[in-house]
Amino acid sequence: MIKDKKGRTWFKGNLHTHTTVSDGKYTPEQAYELYKSKGYDFIARTDHWKSSLGDSYEGLLILPGEEFDVGSNAGEGIYHIVGAGIAQEPKLVRGDGPQKIIDEIHAAGGVAILAHPAWSLNSPEQLMQLKGVDMSEIYNSVSGVPFNCRPYSGLIFDIMAAKGCLWKMNAADDVHFYTEHDACRSYVLVQAEECTREAIVNALKKGDFYATQGPELSVTYVDGRVKVECSPVEEIVYYTDTVFVHHRCQVGTDLTEDEYVPASKDTFVRVEVKDAQGRYAWGQYVKV
Ligand SMILES: [Zn+2]
Ligand SMILES: [Zn+2]
Repeated sequence: MIKDKKGRTWFKGNLHTHTTVSDGKYTPEQAYELYKSKGYDFIARTDHWKSSLGDSYEGLLILPGEEFDVGSNAGEGIYHIVGAGIAQEPKLVRGDGPQKIIDEIHAAGGVAILAHPAWSLNSPEQLMQLKGVDMSEIYNSVSGVPFNCRPYSGLIFDIMAAKGCLWKMNAADDVHFYTEHDACRSYVLVQAEECTREAIVNALKKGDFYATQGPELSVTYVDGRVKVECSPVEEIVYYTDTVFVHHRCQVGTDLTEDEYVPASKDTFVRVEVKDAQGRYAWGQYVKV
C-alpha cells in the first residue's frame, strides 16, 4: 500500500497468476505467501479454466479469477481473456468466442482483461471488434525472455489509439515458473479507499490504476500540457499519434517531473518512464 503526495491510497496487485491448479509451478498457498512477502495487497489467481472462487489468505486479498482462451491460429485469432474479481463462475465452455467470454465475465461480476496481445499476435483490427474490454496487458512478464518473446504490447494499443480506440492498460506477471523473470515483476497500482473485492473491482472498472514495475507515476493534463511527476527515472517518453516531433523524450538522471505540450495533430498522449534499474511504468492514455 502506498500513500501519494496528495494523500491518496494505492494498492499493489498482480492480476494474472497461475499455480499447480493449472500449469504453474507453485501451489496457491506458495504463490500467495510469495506475493504477500513482496508487499502485494491483492492477487488474482487466474488458472486456465479453473476459478479461484472461495480462496482466501491471511493478509492478502484474493480476487477470484480465471483465464479463458479460444483459438490456436494467430491469423484467425488467439484470444486469452482473464476474468478478475468475479463473484461467481462465468457460464462458459471451451470454444466460446472472445465476445462471449468478455460478456460472461461481466455477467459474473468480474473485470475482463485481454491478456498478452503481442504474444498472441493480435492485430488492432481483431481487438477493435471486441466490446467492453476493461483493460489489456501492455506488459506480460512471462512473455519475455528466457521463456518466451513479445512481452510488450504498446505498439498494438497505439495503432488502435490512432484510430480513436483508447484502451486502459495494465501490466501483470502471468507467473508460471516463479523465477526472478516472471514473479513479482509487473503489477498494477490501484487507487481505492479500501482493499476489498468490491472497491478494487470498482476502481479497475473506473480506470483508477496504472501499470508499473517499480516507478511511481502521475500523469495529468492541465492547461493544454501533459504533466508528469514520478519517482526518480532516467527516461520519460511521450507516445502520440504524430509520428515525428522533436520533444517527445526526456533523458537524464533522477528525473522526477516533466511536461509535454501536444503537437497540433496529436489526438492522444501516453507516458512511459524507465528508471536506472531498467524498470518501466506506463501511464494511461490522455485524450488531447
Ligand atoms: Zn494466456
Ligand atoms: Zn496466463
